[in-house]
Amino acid sequence: MGEQPINSTRRAVLVAGAGLAVAGAFAGRAAAQGDADLARLQSARRILIKGGVALTLDRAIGDFAKADLLIEDGTIRAVRPDIVADDTVVVDAANRIVMPGFIDTHHHFYQGILRNILPNGLLNPDYSRDISNTLTAPYQPADVYAGTLATALGMIDIGTTAAVDTSQVSHTPEHSDAGIRAMQEAGLRVVYAYSRGAGPNSQYPHDLARLRKVYFSSEDQLLTLALGGGLVPEQFEFARKHGVHMVSHGVRDNTEKVLFELAKAKLLRPGDEYIHCTHLSGDAWRLLKDTGGEVSLAVPIEMAMGHGMPPIQEALDHGIRPSLSSDVGVTMAQDPFTVMRGCFTLQRLNVLQRERRGEKNLPPLLTTREVLEFATIDGARCLGLARKIGTLTPGKQADIVMLAADRLNVWPLNNVPGAVVNIMNPMNVESVFVAGKVRKWRGGLVGVDAARVLRLIEAARDGVIRRAGFKTNLFG
Ligand SMILES: [Zn+2]
Repeated sequence: MGEQPINSTRRAVLVAGAGLAVAGAFAGRAAAQGDADLARLQSARRILIKGGVALTLDRAIGDFAKADLLIEDGTIRAVRPDIVADDTVVVDAANRIVMPGFIDTHHHFYQGILRNILPNGLLNPDYSRDISNTLTAPYQPADVYAGTLATALGMIDIGTTAAVDTSQVSHTPEHSDAGIRAMQEAGLRVVYAYSRGAGPNSQYPHDLARLRKVYFSSEDQLLTLALGGGLVPEQFEFARKHGVHMVSHGVRDNTEKVLFELAKAKLLRPGDEYIHCTHLSGDAWRLLKDTGGEVSLAVPIEMAMGHGMPPIQEALDHGIRPSLSSDVGVTMAQDPFTVMRGCFTLQRLNVLQRERRGEKNLPPLLTTREVLEFATIDGARCLGLARKIGTLTPGKQADIVMLAADRLNVWPLNNVPGAVVNIMNPMNVESVFVAGKVRKWRGGLVGVDAARVLRLIEAARDGVIRRAGFKTNLFG
């Protein structure tokens, strides 16, 4: 990186926050200018995000009230005030919080076409009956594609740059292919946790070997492979044999017993992901800690759908920093703000209630910064990608969100982690980069034909509910 003064003739300043209302004849000109800015940004090898509020979340680097961030070939090269660099496209980030993209460690992507179809349901019997069985069975590959694309694009739109797809719709290899194709198209960073399907043509888990060869042979890409399943010894053995992380759900009373059996068989590995963990004793939590397990809590879903008390405190008490996840869009928003606020408010409620009951020596109340770490650093570790993402550290991939603080729902900015966790919402997600590629710019997704995607989603939804014989109720 050169430290020469910027050559003004080669410098292009793009105003990220050019959100002023433009009326009449000016609108066309402004749009054309916006297109030109975007084109420059898309073809740039080096991008300088200038003058933002840099929330690096890297304790060694610290945060900056005002700093610049240099991206080169998709990688973060420097974060500090007053970077001087040649041949950059400059993005003006004044009054933007520049931070790592959010990481959602568990979502069933294929359900993007079924959003909000189960607004008041419980895990059992409603979700198992209506979603896992009735509505998932008639999925065709095109429906997996539409649902996965809807979810992946929706995530980028709300500031999530990396996620785990705990798919559960691999009825045939073509179903898996369709989901993976949608993720590739969307440009989101995803751990594809290849999971079961229904019917006689499911090749779970053996098709994992083919998927690896066809789609996951490179380390230098946005998609990585894991095995999704239950706490089942054969599945863990299979994951071990193929050298992938295991991603498993555990919400039942027998979770505890099976975990210890798996440990006895030496089938647990550091980096394996455990979702929900609502029924574990102290011994089981110690086991997860000792075996290097990662924990994913879907706090709002767990509260609303009867999974049990989200074990935020149990995880913390046993030295495990949990990651956060949105789980299913059939019932709840997938946006990270909803998930973070759910976690922040519930942990504090639980501790404050214990205090009210006269308990002493209570654990500390969670802070907004800690919750932000759950949604970034701890998520990156859960994905097995801590070296690549999760903080704005030079050398890491440029997975970055720019959050507009100079909006009427946020301004003035008095505390940065607090603004992100407790004040903002997806409408403040202005620009998003994944591996340095601009995916959302000035409030709009880049390179997405929204009309086409909306049509696809609706057609797939109509087909699935018709074949399932499912009745929706728009106002029920
Ligand atoms: Zn799940």
